[in-house]
Amino acid sequence: MLMKSGARKRRTLRPDTVLSPVSSPDEEYYLWALPVCCIRALKREVLRRPGERRRLELACGVCGRSWRITSSLDERVLSRFVTHAGPRAGGSHPAA
Ligand SMILES: [Zn+2]
Repeated sequence: MLMKSGARKRRTLRPDTVLSPVSSPDEEYYLWALPVCCIRALKREVLRRPGERRRLELACGVCGRSWRITSSLDERVLSRFVTHAGPRAGGSHPAA
């Protein structure tokens, strides 16, 4: 009998990432509420080798949606994407 272990969970993203659609920035969704294709697109970005510049948006090539990361506690997400802390924080943050 085969039992599924948690061995594959290393590639799972933390669920506390919040995104909002570029087309309607007032809406916010948790990562797990996104369409599966968009979650896959995000995973692909996050699991890619580091070195590229951080992205402003996540563009899903399957459904054509674009997302901005509103907040995340996942270091891998933060290192791949610029976070947009809502409409009021549109200015640029000083480099820390
Ligand atoms: Zn999608």
